[in-house]
Amino acid sequence: MTHPTTSTSSTTAAAGQAGVAIITGASRGIGADIARRLAHDGYAVVVNYASRSTDADALVASLAADGHRAIAVKADVAQSADVQRLFDEAESQLGKVDVLVNNAGILTTMPLAQTSDELYESTFGVNVRGTFNTLREAGKRLNDGGRIVNFSSTTLALNLPGYAIYNGTKAAVEAFTRVFAKELRGRQIRVNVVAPGPVATDLFLNGKTEEQVQQFAKMPPLERLGQTDDIAKVVAFLVSQESGWVNGQVLRANGGLA
Ligand code: NAP
Repeated sequence: MTHPTTSTSSTTAAAGQAGVAIITGASRGIGADIARRLAHDGYAVVVNYASRSTDADALVASLAADGHRAIAVKADVAQSADVQRLFDEAESQLGKVDVLVNNAGILTTMPLAQTSDELYESTFGVNVRGTFNTLREAGKRLNDGGRIVNFSSTTLALNLPGYAIYNGTKAAVEAFTRVFAKELRGRQIRVNVVAPGPVATDLFLNGKTEEQVQQFAKMPPLERLGQTDDIAKVVAFLVSQESGWVNGQVLRANGGLA
């Protein structure tokens, strides 16, 4: 479902004061708060999602009610054709893209020796292939001067049992980021990573007991779980001119956990 489009112009000025931003996995969790924050900062936002159209449509409707330009686009980031269509719809309805936030991700913890082929494929499919697909498309289609924010995780530094596959995907994302930032030389496009610690979303909370949640909450010296807006603020910084000299970096936003 798509939402209010007042113009099909492909110029940044027509798109939104600050430009056009695609946020993958923005129907809920961290991505939804990034969409809210970037819309508030003047971007026309593309709320990408995998299946939860009700959540995505509700977010777009609330942004539109506040006078922001937003569309919802269902696209599985693991499928390159879907990602091409995601950019097609962004360009045709809002204009050429300035900002890509590669937030979509999935997590199932499982000892490596018990991990099925299907779990390995799906986790690498969304977290790695999904990031690859959007980066490749952005490399061809992002406006010069654009910004890309990829998503890693503080779990990569913690090396907790059960996180081998997930951490493997996030290591790949960090590796892509450092190389891609250099490959974009001459385009004035910055590519960075945010690596959150535990944030109170479905991805983190699902399958954990209250006791396990509290254990994670006590781990950072700041002694709480991250909230989605803690991360949205970091993303807002990384796409703003305030971070204009930050490129190819990993920003670990975790209350000092690691
Ligand atoms: P979440 O609450 O589970 O939300 C995941 C989002 O990704 C949803 O919007 C979902 O869409 C979307 N999505 C899933 N598979 C997709 C696909 N194949 N194509 C497009 N969209 C897809 O997750 P979250 O906690 O906000 O996590 C966001 C990012 O932060 C992830 O990259 C995660 O690895 C990272 N992270 C999270 C934490 C944490 O503690 N929460 C910590 C470190 C890093 P539907 O609603 O349609 O399913």
